Amino acid sequence: MKELYDLMITHMPDAGGHFGRFGGKFAAETLMQPLQSLQDAFFTAWQDPAFHAERFDLLEHYVGRATPLYHAKRLSEENHGAQIWLKREDLTHTGAHKINNTIGQGLLAKRMGKKRVIAETGAGQHGVATATVAAMFGMDCDVYMGREDMARQAPNVFRMQLLGANVIPVDGGTATLKDALNEALRDWVASCENTFYIIGTVAGPHPYPLMVRQFHAVIGQEAKAQSLMQAGRLPDIAVACVGGGSNAMGLFHAFRDTSVRLVAVEAAGHGLETGQHAASLAKGRAGILHGNLTYLLENDEGQIKATHSISAGLDYPGVGPELASMHEAGDIELTSASDDQAIAAFQTLTRCEGIIPALESSHALAAGMRLAATMKPEEIVMINLSGRGDKDINTVMNILEKED
Ligand SMILES: *Cc1c(COP(=O)(O)O)cnc(C)c1O
Repeated sequence: MKELYDLMITHMPDAGGHFGRFGGKFAAETLMQPLQSLQDAFFTAWQDPAFHAERFDLLEHYVGRATPLYHAKRLSEENHGAQIWLKREDLTHTGAHKINNTIGQGLLAKRMGKKRVIAETGAGQHGVATATVAAMFGMDCDVYMGREDMARQAPNVFRMQLLGANVIPVDGGTATLKDALNEALRDWVASCENTFYIIGTVAGPHPYPLMVRQFHAVIGQEAKAQSLMQAGRLPDIAVACVGGGSNAMGLFHAFRDTSVRLVAVEAAGHGLETGQHAASLAKGRAGILHGNLTYLLENDEGQIKATHSISAGLDYPGVGPELASMHEAGDIELTSASDDQAIAAFQTLTRCEGIIPALESSHALAAGMRLAATMKPEEIVMINLSGRGDKDINTVMNILEKED
């Protein structure tokens, strides 16, 4: 399976970790040395065949890669227009793409001799993916989570605890993800000697956005080879939803410098004009969040705004700096899907194909189906099905019951 993957790192940020004008390292002075050590460890590991041998062994036998590329024939027919192909990240262990990254960072933590990992989590999904690999590697694991989020995502809190992680409630601010981010960074300042901070998306200070992209690049590399093998050509369009941007960068990276159009789908929540959404690229402006310069949603006083999306995983007030740069350079096309459109796509895929998608992925589906309907039957739209929807059935049930 290793033959599928390309270990050359292309599209490097500059020495300061900038992608265009975005990215960089905005962190406490005390973190500059730990970030440099992390960067050195990452590049050393990336040059070491033993690191990749262990990584690919786990990706194959623990995560379940390569994930299939599936031609959704009935969905394509019902939708009229282009053929829809799904990259099945929902079939990975723990049910979403996030584990590609936590395996990579967990291995790096092990190489660096760290006995403890920390993470922050909003919906709990990155916390669960981190607690999973901490259990597998036998490491201590502390996860920071806003107290408000803990109440909303109680099953994921219990999952993390079952996996042996300690979930630390954060009370400051609005007691949500942005407050948990600050607490995790504060912990790392004091503990970096023995602790590895596992960041869950293509954000954070350099080298995190680059590292996380490289760990997820397997998605697009597989999908590219599979498309050539199964469809005989590359797709016309590749579509992914964007929270922080990790599943999108994972899919897109292999298709850069090809003719494939890259479409990023943000969460429009109740509508882009209502202010209740999570569309950082469409509606945000440049500012500093989570240690990097990027697009974010803030009010006139520079306070991070409360975001809204039906899908907890897209409910992030920023976006990875590389996607911000690709957006400004015109390398991606930007669109969005609302809560209602995502729910409709969720139901359509479930009924047509017997696949229950995550609500995050349902945003990519909604936009992908919309595009496919304007295209010819011989054209191909590839959609990243970033996760499975079992975690979302109560949310969907409550909404459908209200409609009745
Ligand atoms: C977390 C999550 C996302 C959003 O995160 P990205 O970093 O934007 O990929 C999307 N889909 C699923 C299933 C998730 O769990």
